[in-house]
Amino acid sequence: MDDCIFCKIANGDIPTDFIYSDENVVAFRDLNPQAPVHVLVIPKKHYKSGIEVDNPSVWSDLMSSAVKVARELGLEKDGYRMVINTGEQGGQTVPHLHLHLLAGRNLGWPPG
Ligand code: 5GP
Ligand code: ZN
Repeated sequence: MDDCIFCKIANGDIPTDFIYSDENVVAFRDLNPQAPVHVLVIPKKHYKSGIEVDNPSVWSDLMSSAVKVARELGLEKDGYRMVINTGEQGGQTVPHLHLHLLAGRNLGWPPG
């Protein structure tokens, strides 16, 4: 996807410090953090949202990478939240599948 900002981040067109990267996934800090720790974990391959995912390995890669990042950032003691906003009512603003990893404060529930 030529005009997708997260594709450009994933393929290096927009230089970004990756907290984590492997063959299929990259993770980087959110531009507008909603918590002291706010990391985005994304598949390198473009999916508009989770609705388009056609291969379960996308989910396992995404979740296992997010768990690794949480562990590497030392979030296990106090806990963290993972969120995937999907579609308009789900609050998704960037149409490239991404998982939010949030931590470092008490996170309210239910979400807004
Ligand atoms: P969504 O609202 O789609 O669930 O989440 C999109 C997230 O991407 C938002 O939290 C927003 O701050 C973040 N974001 C949007 N553009 C950029 C960008 O260019 N770089 C980074 N690091 N984060 C971005
Ligand atoms: Zn994309």
